[in-house]
Amino acid sequence: MTGIPIVVSAPSGCGKDTILEQLFKINDNFAYSVSATSRAMREGEVNGVSYHFTTREEFEGMIKNAEVLEYTEYCGNYYGTPKKAVEDMLSQGKDVILKIEVEGAMNIKRIFPECVLVFILPPSMPELERRLRKRGTETEETIASRLAQARVELTYADKFDYLVVNGDLHKAVDDLNSVILAEKMKAKRCTELLNEIKNS
Ligand code: 5GP
Repeated sequence: MTGIPIVVSAPSGCGKDTILEQLFKINDNFAYSVSATSRAMREGEVNGVSYHFTTREEFEGMIKNAEVLEYTEYCGNYYGTPKKAVEDMLSQGKDVILKIEVEGAMNIKRIFPECVLVFILPPSMPELERRLRKRGTETEETIASRLAQARVELTYADKFDYLVVNGDLHKAVDDLNSVILAEKMKAKRCTELLNEIKNS
Protein backbone atom coordinates (compact mmCIF):
# COMPACT_ATOMS: atom_id res chain seq x y z
CA MET A 1 0.00 0.00 0.00
CA THR A 2 1.39 3.42 -0.86
CA GLY A 3 1.67 5.94 1.94
CA ILE A 4 -0.29 9.14 2.39
CA PRO A 5 1.24 12.60 2.11
CA ILE A 6 0.26 14.53 5.25
CA VAL A 7 0.77 18.26 5.13
CA VAL A 8 1.02 20.10 8.43
CA SER A 9 0.90 23.90 8.27
CA ALA A 10 0.74 26.39 11.11
CA PRO A 11 1.55 30.01 11.79
CA SER A 12 4.81 30.58 13.62
CA GLY A 13 4.37 30.11 17.39
CA CYS A 14 1.60 27.49 17.18
CA GLY A 15 3.89 24.69 18.34
CA LYS A 16 3.91 22.54 15.20
CA ASP A 17 7.51 21.39 15.72
CA THR A 18 6.77 20.16 19.24
CA ILE A 19 3.56 18.46 18.10
CA LEU A 20 5.40 16.65 15.31
CA GLU A 21 8.26 15.61 17.63
CA GLN A 22 5.71 13.98 19.94
CA LEU A 23 3.81 12.42 17.05
CA PHE A 24 6.96 10.69 15.78
CA LYS A 25 7.40 9.17 19.26
CA ILE A 26 3.98 7.51 19.28
CA ASN A 27 3.64 6.43 15.64
CA ASP A 28 6.49 4.85 13.72
CA ASN A 29 4.98 4.62 10.24
CA PHE A 30 5.83 8.23 9.51
CA ALA A 31 8.65 9.56 7.43
CA TYR A 32 9.56 13.21 7.42
CA SER A 33 10.10 15.17 4.22
CA VAL A 34 13.30 17.15 4.75
CA SER A 35 12.84 20.31 2.68
CA ALA A 36 15.55 22.16 0.85
CA THR A 37 16.09 25.82 1.67
CA SER A 38 18.40 28.64 0.73
CA ARG A 39 18.04 30.32 4.12
CA ALA A 40 20.97 30.39 6.54
CA MET A 41 21.28 27.56 9.03
CA ARG A 42 20.11 28.50 12.55
CA GLU A 43 21.82 27.45 15.73
CA GLY A 44 21.03 23.84 16.58
CA GLU A 45 19.97 22.92 13.04
CA VAL A 46 21.63 20.03 11.24
CA ASN A 47 22.11 19.90 7.48
CA GLY A 48 20.14 16.98 6.02
CA VAL A 49 17.99 16.66 9.16
CA SER A 50 16.35 20.06 9.71
CA TYR A 51 16.70 21.04 6.05
CA HIS A 52 18.97 20.42 3.10
CA PHE A 53 20.72 23.77 3.10
CA THR A 54 21.63 25.09 -0.34
CA THR A 55 22.80 28.29 -1.95
CA ARG A 56 20.29 30.27 -4.03
CA GLU A 57 22.09 29.07 -7.17
CA GLU A 58 21.90 25.42 -6.12
CA PHE A 59 18.21 25.83 -5.35
CA GLU A 60 17.56 27.43 -8.73
CA GLY A 61 19.34 24.44 -10.31
CA MET A 62 16.94 22.11 -8.45
CA ILE A 63 13.96 24.08 -9.80
CA LYS A 64 15.35 23.94 -13.33
CA ASN A 65 15.90 20.18 -13.13
CA ALA A 66 12.38 19.61 -11.72
CA GLU A 67 13.84 18.14 -8.53
CA VAL A 68 11.29 19.88 -6.29
CA LEU A 69 7.60 18.94 -6.09
CA GLU A 70 6.71 22.46 -5.03
CA TYR A 71 8.63 25.47 -3.83
CA THR A 72 8.04 28.94 -2.54
CA GLU A 73 9.95 32.08 -1.68
CA TYR A 74 9.25 32.96 1.94
CA CYS A 75 10.87 35.97 3.63
CA GLY A 76 13.37 36.19 0.78
CA ASN A 77 14.50 32.55 0.89
CA TYR A 78 13.63 29.53 -1.20
CA TYR A 79 11.95 26.52 0.41
CA GLY A 80 11.00 23.39 -1.50
CA THR A 81 10.00 19.76 -1.20
CA PRO A 82 12.47 17.32 -2.78
CA LYS A 83 10.55 15.23 -5.30
CA LYS A 84 12.44 11.94 -5.37
CA ALA A 85 12.71 11.52 -1.59
CA VAL A 86 8.96 12.03 -1.12
CA GLU A 87 8.01 9.70 -3.98
CA ASP A 88 10.39 7.00 -2.68
CA MET A 89 9.01 7.18 0.86
CA LEU A 90 5.41 7.04 -0.38
CA SER A 91 6.11 4.02 -2.58
CA GLN A 92 7.69 2.29 0.43
CA GLY A 93 4.30 2.68 2.15
CA LYS A 94 5.41 5.39 4.55
CA ASP A 95 3.06 8.22 5.45
CA VAL A 96 5.08 11.32 4.69
CA ILE A 97 4.80 14.42 6.86
CA LEU A 98 5.43 17.67 5.01
CA LYS A 99 5.84 20.64 7.32
CA ILE A 100 5.28 23.45 4.83
CA GLU A 101 3.51 26.79 4.56
CA VAL A 102 -0.03 27.32 3.27
CA GLU A 103 0.70 27.99 -0.44
CA GLY A 104 2.87 24.87 -0.55
CA ALA A 105 0.02 22.94 1.07
CA MET A 106 -2.36 24.03 -1.71
CA ASN A 107 0.19 22.93 -4.33
CA ILE A 108 0.66 19.53 -2.71
CA LYS A 109 -3.13 19.04 -2.79
CA ARG A 110 -3.06 19.66 -6.54
CA ILE A 111 -0.21 17.16 -7.04
CA PHE A 112 -1.55 14.51 -4.62
CA PRO A 113 -5.35 14.96 -4.37
CA GLU A 114 -5.42 12.06 -1.91
CA CYS A 115 -3.18 13.88 0.58
CA VAL A 116 -4.39 15.11 3.97
CA LEU A 117 -4.03 18.77 4.90
CA VAL A 118 -3.91 19.63 8.59
CA PHE A 119 -3.79 23.17 9.91
CA ILE A 120 -2.63 23.77 13.48
CA LEU A 121 -4.34 26.70 15.20
CA PRO A 122 -3.52 28.60 18.37
CA PRO A 123 -6.39 28.65 20.90
CA SER A 124 -6.72 32.43 20.30
CA MET A 125 -4.77 35.32 18.81
CA PRO A 126 -3.93 36.83 22.25
CA GLU A 127 -2.55 33.41 23.25
CA LEU A 128 -0.44 33.25 20.07
CA GLU A 129 0.95 36.69 20.89
CA ARG A 130 1.71 35.58 24.45
CA ARG A 131 3.58 32.52 23.15
CA LEU A 132 5.60 34.57 20.67
CA ARG A 133 6.59 36.96 23.48
CA LYS A 134 7.45 34.09 25.82
CA ARG A 135 10.20 32.89 23.47
CA GLY A 136 12.06 36.04 24.54
CA THR A 137 14.08 36.05 21.33
CA GLU A 138 11.86 38.23 19.16
CA THR A 139 11.81 42.02 18.80
CA GLU A 140 8.50 43.93 18.91
CA GLU A 141 8.79 44.36 15.16
CA THR A 142 9.22 40.63 14.56
CA ILE A 143 6.31 39.82 16.87
CA ALA A 144 4.05 42.25 15.00
CA SER A 145 5.16 40.87 11.64
CA ARG A 146 4.64 37.23 12.75
CA LEU A 147 1.15 38.08 14.04
CA ALA A 148 0.27 39.82 10.77
CA GLN A 149 1.63 36.81 8.85
CA ALA A 150 -0.42 34.48 11.10
CA ARG A 151 -3.61 36.38 10.20
CA VAL A 152 -2.83 35.94 6.50
CA GLU A 153 -2.13 32.22 6.97
CA LEU A 154 -5.38 31.82 8.93
CA THR A 155 -7.34 32.88 5.86
CA TYR A 156 -6.27 29.56 4.29
CA ALA A 157 -7.41 27.44 7.23
CA ASP A 158 -10.83 26.62 5.77
CA LYS A 159 -9.17 25.15 2.67
CA PHE A 160 -7.55 22.48 4.84
CA ASP A 161 -9.13 19.09 5.60
CA TYR A 162 -8.67 19.24 9.38
CA LEU A 163 -8.06 21.86 12.04
CA VAL A 164 -6.20 20.94 15.20
CA VAL A 165 -6.13 23.48 18.03
CA ASN A 166 -2.96 23.48 20.08
CA GLY A 167 -4.30 24.51 23.48
CA ASP A 168 -3.06 21.45 25.34
CA LEU A 169 -0.02 19.77 23.72
CA HIS A 170 -1.03 16.17 24.54
CA LYS A 171 -4.52 16.69 23.20
CA ALA A 172 -3.19 18.30 20.00
CA VAL A 173 -0.82 15.35 19.40
CA ASP A 174 -3.62 12.91 20.08
CA ASP A 175 -6.00 14.78 17.77
CA LEU A 176 -3.46 14.83 14.94
CA ASN A 177 -2.72 11.14 15.36
CA SER A 178 -6.46 10.34 15.41
CA VAL A 179 -7.02 12.30 12.20
CA ILE A 180 -4.31 10.30 10.46
CA LEU A 181 -5.47 6.95 11.83
CA ALA A 182 -9.05 7.66 10.69
CA GLU A 183 -7.83 8.75 7.25
CA LYS A 184 -5.94 5.47 6.89
CA MET A 185 -9.12 3.52 7.66
CA LYS A 186 -11.15 5.22 4.92
CA ALA A 187 -12.65 2.47 2.76
CA LYS A 188 -11.36 4.02 -0.45
CA ARG A 189 -7.78 3.80 0.87
CA CYS A 190 -8.20 0.16 1.88
CA THR A 191 -9.20 -1.52 -1.38
CA GLU A 192 -6.09 -3.77 -1.36
CA LEU A 193 -6.75 -4.89 2.19
CA LEU A 194 -10.41 -5.52 1.39
CA ASN A 195 -9.48 -7.66 -1.63
CA GLU A 196 -6.95 -9.63 0.43
CA ILE A 197 -9.62 -10.38 3.01
CA LYS A 198 -12.20 -11.27 0.37
CA ASN A 199 -9.75 -13.61 -1.35
CA SER A 200 -8.43 -15.23 1.83
P1 5GP B 1 11.54 28.39 8.81
O1 5GP B 1 12.50 29.29 8.13
O2 5GP B 1 10.93 29.03 10.04
O3 5GP B 1 12.14 27.03 9.11
O4 5GP B 1 10.34 28.11 7.80
C1 5GP B 1 9.59 29.17 7.27
C2 5GP B 1 8.31 28.61 6.64
O5 5GP B 1 8.63 27.83 5.48
C3 5GP B 1 7.52 27.67 7.57
O6 5GP B 1 6.13 28.01 7.47
C4 5GP B 1 7.78 26.31 6.98
O7 5GP B 1 6.71 25.41 7.25
C5 5GP B 1 7.85 26.65 5.49
N1 5GP B 1 8.52 25.61 4.71
C6 5GP B 1 9.54 24.80 5.10
N2 5GP B 1 9.87 23.96 4.12
C7 5GP B 1 9.03 24.21 3.08
C8 5GP B 1 8.86 23.64 1.78
O8 5GP B 1 9.54 22.71 1.36
N3 5GP B 1 7.90 24.18 1.00
C9 5GP B 1 7.11 25.20 1.41
N4 5GP B 1 6.17 25.63 0.57
N5 5GP B 1 7.22 25.76 2.64
C10 5GP B 1 8.18 25.27 3.46
